[in-house]
Amino acid sequence: MDSRADLHVHTTASDGALTPTEVVREAKRVGLAAVGIADHDTADGIEEALAAAETFGVEVVPGIEISTTQNSTEVHILGYFIDHRNRELLDEMARLKQARFERARLIVEKLRAAGIPIRFDRVLEIARGGAVGRPHIARAIWEAGAASSVDAAFGKFLQPGGPGYVPRPKLLPEHAIELIRTAGGVPCCAHAAKLRRDELILELIHKGLMGIEVYHPDHTAAASRFYKRFAEKHSLVAVGGSDAHCIPGTTNGGIGSVTVEYGVVEQLRSLSDDLRRARQ
Ligand SMILES: [Zn+2]
Ligand SMILES: [Zn+2]
Repeated sequence: MDSRADLHVHTTASDGALTPTEVVREAKRVGLAAVGIADHDTADGIEEALAAAETFGVEVVPGIEISTTQNSTEVHILGYFIDHRNRELLDEMARLKQARFERARLIVEKLRAAGIPIRFDRVLEIARGGAVGRPHIARAIWEAGAASSVDAAFGKFLQPGGPGYVPRPKLLPEHAIELIRTAGGVPCCAHAAKLRRDELILELIHKGLMGIEVYHPDHTAAASRFYKRFAEKHSLVAVGGSDAHCIPGTTNGGIGSVTVEYGVVEQLRSLSDDLRRARQ
């Protein structure tokens, strides 16, 4: 078997159900050569994942997935081979975490006012100390019996127009790209076909974007082919991964269900090395 890498996995540091150690153990179990930790707006899981990488003999690519907004479109920017101790990155993520926490509290208040019997302390328990977000609230709604599944809870209550919708705190994609590059990371646009804003991606290339996520569980085979060509045409790294959250009751695939060749990891590492050299 050739070496494969799943470059998009969430842990309990954000809204995944597995701890960083459990993620790395699972990556080993399914036979991956490398796994990319890409938690929402936090690098908190990376230290533990790197330690587990030694234990289990799987390479960990230290990454992040930063949530940004451009003209009310949600744009996720992945960053690979970041220095997870970079001060500027950590400060900005701490500021976002606080804003995210306030947002979650507001969503729960709105849902309670709408008659959904959920408690904020239960939502925090579900988040297991990670950055609390809508998937945790969706699970609490499902537990309270107000929806038939976690996915249904998300769709019915937490989307724009739903009774528990609160807009997310705003950060521009170009700002996230800059932060990632400052931390020596390679910025890539997440799930390009879900975003479907090619003109925006072109703009972001001029702002320092270096890759796009071509392979993702929400991409059709045709979409992946399209964005593979798009990446080639614009000299972008074509990244991909499962976007696994491993939350019971959700339907998406697990760790290793979407992968790229290990060569992509080497491409990212060499770009990160170039960025760091350029900053010295
Ligand atoms: Zn995303
Ligand atoms: Zn993700």
